[in-house]
Amino acid sequence: MISLAQAYEIVIAAARPLPAERVPLVECRGRVLAEPVVADMAMPPFDKSMVDGYACRRVDLPGPLELVEVIAAGMSPEKIVGRGQCSKIMTGAPIPEGADCVFIVEHSREVDGRVTWTGEHTADNIVPRASDVREGETLLHPGHAVRPQDVAVLASMGYAEPLVARRPSVAVIPTGDELVEPGEKPGPSQIRNSNAYQLCGQVESAGGLPHYLGVARDTGHALHEKISDAIRKHDVVLLSGGVSMGDYDLVPGVLRENGVEILFDKIAVQPGKPTVFGVSPEAFCFGLPGNPVSTFAVFELLVKPFLLKLQGHDYRPPVVRAALAETFTRKVASREAWVPVTLDAEGRARRVEYHGSAHIAALSFADGLIAFPVGDSTLEEGRVVAVRLLRH
Ligand code: AMP
Ligand code: MG
Repeated sequence: MISLAQAYEIVIAAARPLPAERVPLVECRGRVLAEPVVADMAMPPFDKSMVDGYACRRVDLPGPLELVEVIAAGMSPEKIVGRGQCSKIMTGAPIPEGADCVFIVEHSREVDGRVTWTGEHTADNIVPRASDVREGETLLHPGHAVRPQDVAVLASMGYAEPLVARRPSVAVIPTGDELVEPGEKPGPSQIRNSNAYQLCGQVESAGGLPHYLGVARDTGHALHEKISDAIRKHDVVLLSGGVSMGDYDLVPGVLRENGVEILFDKIAVQPGKPTVFGVSPEAFCFGLPGNPVSTFAVFELLVKPFLLKLQGHDYRPPVVRAALAETFTRKVASREAWVPVTLDAEGRARRVEYHGSAHIAALSFADGLIAFPVGDSTLEEGRVVAVRLLRH
């Protein structure tokens, strides 16, 4: 059986980047840049005042100084500041020629157009032209996932319609005869379908466009219909359930019937062992284990990095290092295992009540997941571990 690390390498290597498209600036948060962002102007574009005050020659301080002009932000100075003179200036306005210093308005007294500096020390309070950004400088690179602060960079450099990777279209197909939809009351021996909705949320958080195709019943015919349709119409197909060893676990077989080459069908990880990944010329297919915690964890560990890689982004999950507030144990140590933890007020990792891969409510209290490496059945209190944060 392959390790999680091997499975990760296989899915990342399979990801072919999607074509790019232009989107309006207001829609680009969360998208992945497909072009470099190059400064078309210097920032600041002129020597600018950092403060509201008076621009003058430092040698003339403390004055009194003759006031020659008032410069608002957005205005170009018209007067040169000569010996014994000053111009009143607002934050962000261009420094007038001749001035080498701006003292703050709080340290001034103005009487009949003559201004005196009342402070003891003053900085120059001038931001030199191009000190933040030089013209022609590359500010962001392709593959960068756009956050709000990046939107500001794009806006300031005139990228009104940045080029970003197309969002992968992702079909979500839960499988199982026992499933009813959330608006229904389950009969005896039925449960509600939670995976499909969880997966749609996770797909969105990875930049994908989820398309929920409805529950596929556990018959070869029902599965075949949904899968063949999904493969034709979408970039990625996510199935949940039907991938283990039961009589009705038909997903891998139906994927093969549809021309999907299975690259792996088991991973030595807990939860998530019966995970299937396959490729066809038309789509990438993941068969995720049916238990909701397994589906969730495999998505976080494999599918999310894969979907972002399709968009050209190398996903690095947010990780904090934390000491364990208590000892964690497990019975079998033959597989890598991931367990949910919460971070306490001191930043230490604590257990959340967790009964196993069907216990979806446990994840609602989790701040992150920690790994038991293969062979380790005990993680002692005080040990510092990497906590992979769950943030959306
Ligand atoms: P399976 O892999 O199909 O045998 O499913 C494993 C377990 O996950 C079973 O207990 C299923 O009832 C449960 N399960 C499968 N699909 C879903 C779903 N969409 N939502 C919630 N639980 C599910
Ligand atoms: Mg099933």
